[in-house]
Amino acid sequence: MSKTVYVGGVPVGGKNRITVQTMATVKTERVDECAAELNGCVSAGADIVRVAVRDDSDAEALKTLSQSVTAPIVADIHFDYRLALKSIENGAAKIRINPGNIGGKREIKAVSERLKYYGIPVRVGSNSGSIEKEFLAKYGRSAEALAESALFSATRFEKFGVENIVLSAKASDVPTTVKAYEILSERCDYPLHIGVTEAGAAEYGVIKGAIGVGSLLLKGIGDTVRVSLTAPPAEEVRAALNILRAVGLDKNFAEVISCPTCGRCEYDVFGLSEKIRKATENVRKPIKIAVMGCVVNGIGEGKEADVGIAGGKDKCVIFRGGEPVRTVSIENAEPELMKEVELWLTKI
Ligand code: SF4
Repeated sequence: MSKTVYVGGVPVGGKNRITVQTMATVKTERVDECAAELNGCVSAGADIVRVAVRDDSDAEALKTLSQSVTAPIVADIHFDYRLALKSIENGAAKIRINPGNIGGKREIKAVSERLKYYGIPVRVGSNSGSIEKEFLAKYGRSAEALAESALFSATRFEKFGVENIVLSAKASDVPTTVKAYEILSERCDYPLHIGVTEAGAAEYGVIKGAIGVGSLLLKGIGDTVRVSLTAPPAEEVRAALNILRAVGLDKNFAEVISCPTCGRCEYDVFGLSEKIRKATENVRKPIKIAVMGCVVNGIGEGKEADVGIAGGKDKCVIFRGGEPVRTVSIENAEPELMKEVELWLTKI
């Protein structure tokens, strides 16, 4: 099992629940906009948020952001170790850094001392573009090279007594990413930040993220998740939460199941299931709701649901656990089903 580190007050690793992360797309120095974007991500379900720190003004912005954003902030730094020092002083709850591009021992030692003094963790690791040359030469561009490079980057901080380390090893293809994390989970007990990097635009990227992150989580690998998408960060958060739900790691939500419809369907299942999904998207209790196209098969097929509806031409049947409870008109299908949902939620 992995160790636990704390990002602000949020535990990552060990037996703690899997946390969800995303990264601001707004420039960090535009403090108000950045805070609004990040707080929107927190409302969508992010536990930890990250910002790029490119220069002094970004590092300075962390003073305000760390007070105005309601989740701990990770500062993402490249090339300039002094920005890491400033970010830590200005309220970053964790830093993400590539020790290979911030200088030599002196710089890493300085960052290590600051990390230890403030008691905050660092994420190090590799992605396809940042594999150390010696591992590329030894293994080629592969999962082994990614994993070895990530482990090596951790040793650079370990040398100076840093223990609060989170590791990542992301490729932009799913099989390499999964294999790299399998290797890491066998060889170390650092908490793992998992994700498929540069996964792409929303639709295909979500599929890559779901398969990569989902298959790792099903193997018990991974402690914190980022689904990288070329999309607004709140969408990354929603995708990550849906992955956690699909693999059974988050049960406190309303799952709307619905049939694909066929020639037996005589009402608008697509429209009703979408309305019910929207109406229940903020529910944080476990409930399964079925929206089924016909009475002939729908009640039986939807019997794993807590509450459900199966439609006919003019009327629908409301059911609970596969048992019909009453008939309602098609026009009242949505409010009647929601009444049933609310009733169920008051009981659990
Ligand atoms: S529930 Fe009825 S309408 Fe939906 S797919 Fe099954 S048979 Fe077809």
